[in-house]
Amino acid sequence: MLADNNDSIGESNSEDAQLEWKQLGLSDGMLDALAGLGFRTPTPVQQKTIPQAMRGCDLLVQAKTGSGKTLAFGLPIIEMLDPEADCVQALVLTPTRELALQVATEIIRTGGMAEKSVVPIFGGASINVQIKKLKAGGKVVVGTPGRILDHISRGTLSLGRARMVVLDEVDEMMDRGFLPDVNHILDMTPSEKQMMVFSATIPDDIRRMILKRMREPQHIQIGEAGYSVNYDVHHSFYRTQRLHKFVTLVNVLHSIPRTKTLIFTNTKSDCERVAEYLHKESFSVGFLDGDLSQSVRQLTLNLFKDGTLDVMVCTDVAARGIDIFGVSHVINYDLPENKEMYLHRTGRTGRAGRKGEAISLVAPNELLQLGDIRKQLGIEIDEVAVPDKDGVSANFKRTMIERLKSMEEEGYADDLSLLADELLEAVEPYALTAGLLTYLRQRGFDLSSGYDVENPEHKIRLFDRAPMLGRQDINQQMSQRREKRSGR
Ligand code: ADP
Ligand code: MG
Repeated sequence: MLADNNDSIGESNSEDAQLEWKQLGLSDGMLDALAGLGFRTPTPVQQKTIPQAMRGCDLLVQAKTGSGKTLAFGLPIIEMLDPEADCVQALVLTPTRELALQVATEIIRTGGMAEKSVVPIFGGASINVQIKKLKAGGKVVVGTPGRILDHISRGTLSLGRARMVVLDEVDEMMDRGFLPDVNHILDMTPSEKQMMVFSATIPDDIRRMILKRMREPQHIQIGEAGYSVNYDVHHSFYRTQRLHKFVTLVNVLHSIPRTKTLIFTNTKSDCERVAEYLHKESFSVGFLDGDLSQSVRQLTLNLFKDGTLDVMVCTDVAARGIDIFGVSHVINYDLPENKEMYLHRTGRTGRAGRKGEAISLVAPNELLQLGDIRKQLGIEIDEVAVPDKDGVSANFKRTMIERLKSMEEEGYADDLSLLADELLEAVEPYALTAGLLTYLRQRGFDLSSGYDVENPEHKIRLFDRAPMLGRQDINQQMSQRREKRSGR
């Protein structure tokens, strides 16, 4: 079961690191590019896939989340492009728009390619811009099936000379009902092409379905048959009541030391609702689901990536393939419908050899399902007690102390250091600290922290926010005053 436990990414103290890449048959230019990116050694799936791919074999590849599958097909694509041929030579299909953009970006970045030669094609974005890019000499197209078909039928995309076709997250494409579209697209490509399909989960029925379209495919499998578990993710769950899930979520968010946190809900309405609640609780939160416009989807994702938002609530549209640096926790607000989705959602953390935490909030009616997921995947999911008032406050204080210490290490602005000196000279340290905290509270700075789990209607606050008047209250006050005056 632990077969792929030691295949963590990147780190190697051997001087021969570059040699490992070289042995895969990559060019010198590519070796330099990889060194520049800090990718010292190929990951196991890259080691097994790249040489076969460069030989032109059809490949069916299954390896765990975050193990570098994109470059396992991306590098061979880049290496095998013919700079002279002015046509689409490689096509990558993905189930979601965000993933298409991410894969295109990774290929451009790694290959040091001109942006115009790799064209992302997906719905919700301007079709005219895409047409221009295709005309300008796109050699690699990365996209979602619907929009690709659209371009084919408009005659703005020709796949007649494509030599390589990749299906990323192949099982999700089938689950989303893209099989007819995918078949249609494949029919537009030459029969002599090379086909490669990838996922961390390839159930038997889907394997059979897709094998029909491949020629003597090699099977590369890292991990268990059917699905590959990522052992860098630690799994735990909190028992809660359906009605108290939100309260539990807030307490959990307040009590765990975390960085970026992704929360998955099963429905779009819950996604928005949970985000709205968290916003009211003063978390910096955004949400991502398929009902948002594409520009808002991309904006939200970018704000989460760059750390402006530290919590993002999403539906399964973000469960597949999305690679965000620094996600420490994935939280299942609801359990997903099957083990595959559980694996992909929780696979948004613990990527590229780093450790990650997956947490599920489980209502009594979900306990059986949790047991099934645990059994089917053969993983441990530890039960953790929901943090109570003490747990929440302890973490709040711990975080505050850590923050103060790290600020001290980072140093302060000159004017603030001077002010600090002056204040310390004038006021006792205790009075200064307590006074500054009181000042913060009076200024409306939110020092709140979670709910009483025994009595969830009751919010516990370490430092209660002083009541503040909103604009509406003030308007009301003023109009009352006017009425009073005119009544006189
Ligand atoms: P998968 O498709 O298997 O889920 P990705 O291709 O998204 O995984 O890769 C996960 C992360 O690992 C990405 O951030 C990627 O840039 C990084 N990565 C890929 N190959 C290597 C490597 N050889 N060494 C270090 N990091 C790598
Ligand atoms: Mg991937």
